[in-house]
Amino acid sequence: MPAPDDARLAAERLGLAGEPAPLPGEADRNYRVGDHVLKLHAPGFEPAVLDLQDAAMEHVAAAGLAVATPRLVRAAPLDGGGRARVLSWLPGEPWAAAPRGAEALRSLGRAVAEIDAALAGFEHPGLDRGLRWDMLRAAELRGVAEAADPVLERFAERVLPRLRELPAQAIHNDANEHNVLVGEDGLVSGLIDFGDLCRAPRVCGMAVACAYAMTALAVPEREVLPLVAGYHELASLHPEELALLGDLIRTRLAVSIAMAALQRAEQPDNEYLLISQQGVSALLERLGAEPPELELLRLRDACGYEAVPTAHAVRAHLRLAGAGPVCGPPLAGAPVIDFSGDDPPPPAVEPALGRYLEDRRVYDSAAFEAELPGERRTLHLGVDVFLPAGEPILAPLDGTVRAVAFRPEARDWGGIVVLDHETGGGVHFHTLYGHLSRASAERLQPGAVLRRGDELGRLGDESENGGWAPHLHLQILTTDLGRGSDAHGVGTLAERDLWESVSPDPNLLLGLPGGVRADPPRARDQLLAARRTTISPVLSLSYAEPLKIVRGAGAHLYDEDGRAYLDLVNNVCHVGHAHPRVVASAAAQMARLNTNTRYLHDLFVGYARRLAATLPDPLSVVFLVNSGSEANDLALRLARAHTGRRDVLVLDHAYHGNLSSLVEISPYKFDGPGGAGRPEHVRVARLPRSAGDAEDVARLARRGAFIAESLPGVAGQIVLPDGYLEVAYAHARAAGAVCIADEVQTGFGRVGRAFWGFELGGVVPDIVTLGKPIGNGHPIGAVVTTPEIARSFQTGMEYFNTFGGNPVSCAAALAVLDVIADEGLQAHALRLGGRMKAGLEELAARHGCVVEARGEGLFLGLELTGAAEATAVAEAACRAGVLLSTDGPRRNVLKLKPPLAIGDDDAELLLRTLDPALYEASRFSIR
Ligand code: PMP
Repeated sequence: MPAPDDARLAAERLGLAGEPAPLPGEADRNYRVGDHVLKLHAPGFEPAVLDLQDAAMEHVAAAGLAVATPRLVRAAPLDGGGRARVLSWLPGEPWAAAPRGAEALRSLGRAVAEIDAALAGFEHPGLDRGLRWDMLRAAELRGVAEAADPVLERFAERVLPRLRELPAQAIHNDANEHNVLVGEDGLVSGLIDFGDLCRAPRVCGMAVACAYAMTALAVPEREVLPLVAGYHELASLHPEELALLGDLIRTRLAVSIAMAALQRAEQPDNEYLLISQQGVSALLERLGAEPPELELLRLRDACGYEAVPTAHAVRAHLRLAGAGPVCGPPLAGAPVIDFSGDDPPPPAVEPALGRYLEDRRVYDSAAFEAELPGERRTLHLGVDVFLPAGEPILAPLDGTVRAVAFRPEARDWGGIVVLDHETGGGVHFHTLYGHLSRASAERLQPGAVLRRGDELGRLGDESENGGWAPHLHLQILTTDLGRGSDAHGVGTLAERDLWESVSPDPNLLLGLPGGVRADPPRARDQLLAARRTTISPVLSLSYAEPLKIVRGAGAHLYDEDGRAYLDLVNNVCHVGHAHPRVVASAAAQMARLNTNTRYLHDLFVGYARRLAATLPDPLSVVFLVNSGSEANDLALRLARAHTGRRDVLVLDHAYHGNLSSLVEISPYKFDGPGGAGRPEHVRVARLPRSAGDAEDVARLARRGAFIAESLPGVAGQIVLPDGYLEVAYAHARAAGAVCIADEVQTGFGRVGRAFWGFELGGVVPDIVTLGKPIGNGHPIGAVVTTPEIARSFQTGMEYFNTFGGNPVSCAAALAVLDVIADEGLQAHALRLGGRMKAGLEELAARHGCVVEARGEGLFLGLELTGAAEATAVAEAACRAGVLLSTDGPRRNVLKLKPPLAIGDDDAELLLRTLDPALYEASRFSIR
């Protein structure tokens, strides 16, 4: 359809080159002209409303968000009293153009959250203009459309009063499928149309986004959850907001239906009015007027809140409720039958407990289908207690009969009794007993009161219990979701946290010392989703496709599918992942005794002596702690006690640990993202690249401490220049500083030519700090110092460290020293490290993106031209089954610091893997 003359004229007058192409619009006439949108507003438009939009767009654009939003480019009056506005055109495909998956939905939630956050402080008189799409006004649309009325009635009565209690702010309010733009990566890239901007609680805008996204989803109530979780990741949703969201989604659908009816009456020819209607009525019909309780549980779970808000109180009550036995013979010591295998349960003679069931033959039946295609409800929510048929079942708690039923069909529950209980604090919960005999279940009437110990029924036999071996299905329900005897007895593994909140561990009733809980693994995607809410994102994950590693051996890690990865990252599991000698030593001690250092113990003193013997004189006094960070923190305290000063000199780009005291002395942190800058008491010497750089230490050292890694690691696997440490230590000591060698990364034979990194520099530090490899993965750290400095620390204040020096840690650490010695690992590091370095140098000579290969022993680095190249190589290697990490001030260094258990074949694999990856990276590298 060609553009009308007035649009062409306006485009020309506003300096837009090209033919205007009409775009859909509700109230305005919109055209795309090249990289711009031309909007024509008819005479009678409200200037204040346009000003509101322009001001809001400007406000959001100024916030510099990841999601793009349009901006006003220019505006001009039109002949006859209208106005023309030119907005920037945003690239991207409308959300409505294709089906969208979980990641796209999550990005939509994040986009809406980002814009809400940016609008939080935005004020404008137009915000309170009384927009018809303002959710707070939804009740006014009652009586317009029959299909919408039940929802709007409920909104007016039940939702609006609570909605008014929530804080309101400017919200975009119109993330519908035509206003959301998606980039080439399939994620939301932009949001347009600020015409419905108004002041309302944020959850109203969320409800708009959810409602329209849900119209295109097959299982909307479950598939929409990533959208809500995505929003919550950036702008936390409060439980009270979530409590209203289900109703608000329905309200928005009802508003849409009512508004369409009104507008059709006003403008019978406007086709745009119909666009968003497709699917809206169908969705509202599917959802119903009132959100089911399960919907709220799902929303809460998706945001990391426990699904059932009262579950906490139920568990707290049951911990102290003193439940009585459910059957005659004591269950303690009952064998537990695990149904993961193929065998049917044995006939019960003794009580036995069936736990986590994932018997495919059983659950393949349609009765166990869940909402999502192909998904089965395989998570057993109760415990099965195997007893002979006819066995009396006793009420473990006082209660009232809530429901009684008899369902003898195959796979079903036979006779069922559900009891009601109360916590004493007004919280109600239920217990459920399945597979009873018909006669016994039907003896009870709903409302009947049972006392603890009263018989509530007898076990049915196979002919009347659903065809199972005789057993009791015992289940606690923090809510029966309104289903009574039809309560869920199994749930999906995908919603495991939700179902465990609905049905807590039945051992709260049984009280068996061995427990009845099974802990089925979570799928990769579920781990990721749960991490996003329950674990702070400040804890990062490696690789574009994070790995789920479940096992390690030697220098290899294995994922859940059994795929092997060569590990060149982990210098913690120094002598090899899960080294049997270390495991046996720690486990044996764990089985014997673990306590603190206030008792005499062979292992504590014995290990301290063995460790000190690896260090040169006069390093002979040992403190055992829990980590490298704790070791460095204690080292700073020792230095301060000895010198009376807290001044610290560090090397640039260094990292010394995660405690406050160490973030303060780590330029890698205080000068990095989120860092607070260099504190007063800290000075930073240049990262040494030539012996002359030691002069920096002369210039900067003060009385206090000089701390340096013997081979700076996060700074990019740097080998200190020959002679540097000797001169630097001399300068530091001349200024009155004690010299601390941080050997957390480099110790225990890794560097090959020496057992400790500082030995390569020909120095003896005053304090040495140890961590990572010391316990082969068991958390332990150490500080070794001189008797003189140790004496300065005797100020009268006790040093107590609950876990430091415990016998289990010492047993692990002692085994590490033994393994290094007995397996000749230092010599191995020297030989194999030399071979690997030669291989890396050969690659460096051939590939344009490599700047330098460097390192000592099995502490190696490959510096590339840029971070992009380093990341690309690490990702390619990961895909090929070789794990590398990147670091260095420019993130352009590939770090290689494998367990010393790495073999010659592994080294070959590494070089074979790097070759094509470096070739690829060189192609886009500019040197
Ligand atoms: N010092 C150095 C040189 C380190 O690399 C690290 C950890 N990367 C630490 C100290 C702190 O060790 P941890 O994280 O075990 O406390």
